[in-house]
Amino acid sequence: ARLRELQESPVMDHALSASRVAMQPDGSRLIKFFFGEELPFVSHGSGVFVYDADGRRYLDGCSGAVTANLGHADPEILQVMAEQAERITFAHRGTFHSEQSEKLAERLGAMTGYPYVFLCNSGSEAVETALRLTLQYWRERGEPDRARFLSHAVSYHGATLGGLSLSGHPQRRWVAEALLHGFNELIPPYAYRFAEGRDDAAFTAFLTKRAAEALDSHGSGAAGVVVEPVGGAAGGAITPPDGYLPALAELCRERGLPLIADEVMTGLGRTGTMLASQHWDVRPDLVVLGKGMGAGYTPVSAVLVSEHVVDAIAAGTASVTNGHTYGGNPLGSAVALAVLEAVESRNLVANAAERGKQLRAGLEELAARHEVIGEVRGLGLLQGLELVSDPVTRSPGDPVGSLTRSAVLAARERGLLVYPATGGINDAILVAPPLTVTAEETDLLLALLDDALSAMSQCTRARA
Ligand code: PMP
Repeated sequence: ARLRELQESPVMDHALSASRVAMQPDGSRLIKFFFGEELPFVSHGSGVFVYDADGRRYLDGCSGAVTANLGHADPEILQVMAEQAERITFAHRGTFHSEQSEKLAERLGAMTGYPYVFLCNSGSEAVETALRLTLQYWRERGEPDRARFLSHAVSYHGATLGGLSLSGHPQRRWVAEALLHGFNELIPPYAYRFAEGRDDAAFTAFLTKRAAEALDSHGSGAAGVVVEPVGGAAGGAITPPDGYLPALAELCRERGLPLIADEVMTGLGRTGTMLASQHWDVRPDLVVLGKGMGAGYTPVSAVLVSEHVVDAIAAGTASVTNGHTYGGNPLGSAVALAVLEAVESRNLVANAAERGKQLRAGLEELAARHEVIGEVRGLGLLQGLELVSDPVTRSPGDPVGSLTRSAVLAARERGLLVYPATGGINDAILVAPPLTVTAEETDLLLALLDDALSAMSQCTRARA
């Protein structure tokens, strides 16, 4: 019933009206979105702070879109960028090897333990690439009918047709629905709304049983499973019960199906480990990275690929022919390499774990005082707050999305940026500051959020 509720999406009217407002021409030629609100013009950034054109300062409590992992205007990265830009910015990888992309692939491999790397420019492109590599793997293994991927009914995997086909996100799917596959059929590991009284062990058993049934219903058509180890943009830091990811990996292993971890948001230290899958000792067959890899300094993304997948493709009939024009370009590669070096040399994975604990404790404390917080969840510096209009019934805002909107706007008015992560059936925000955040900045973030939540509940009380 919950799944049906998702498909029928009570959020749709709200989504439509928000887009209609947003797309009214207002003198600008840009098509705008984001709740149809007036947005401030950005001016500049420094560390965890961003400034608008009117000189207002914002603490970037969500690293933009969980992307600016080093904070803004990092001098070391800017220097590498300038030096590389003077040498060469672009050379097509079909014409030249580039030292920068080779070094980047090597470094990524060393940091994550994967032997092969395919470079792209955005998370969505890399998700598509992971799907295509898996399809090529099956073709070369003589099973071209394996083309059905499975993903979770509350999830986000990208704005392109493959990524959207995987995504359980009605607000983003609806416009393209006619072109999409319904890959998003697995029950999400989202205890707050789907456990229905089961404890972690029972919920894990339930999810695993249903996932096995779903995989087997596709028989020799199943191609692989795609999962966000910790959810992001849909639903808000949905964190599975501990047994689930290992159980899903085991289901895949038993059936010889590649497990693809979409770590576009969670990868490269965000959750306090290099990859979020490592929290559960799971080694996916393919891993997708993006966001934090360029950390806001360049659009860059990657697919990490295991030996056995590459071996099957290498032993086959064709090379990998899909790519994107800017993939592996020298400028982007040099910048991403500098970002990875900074993540390592500044111990930012450890900092994410440490500051993550502080942030989590602070958010729990806020949850004890603010009824609008239904649940705090997440790992490291990827934390989510589920927002509810009633903590007993766990009802979301009416319409769904309205609490998310109020929270984002109340925070912004107070100089704090948080990320809206409504998944179509719920209200949620992500709190995910740069991995460079200090203890003092974390305290400031919590104080601003406290103030924003107080203002929100005053509004709610006034309306009541
Ligand atoms: N996968 C996940 C898990 C993401 O969070 C996102 C972006 N929110 C994407 C894929 C798509 O990445 P991009 O927006 O860079 O295309």
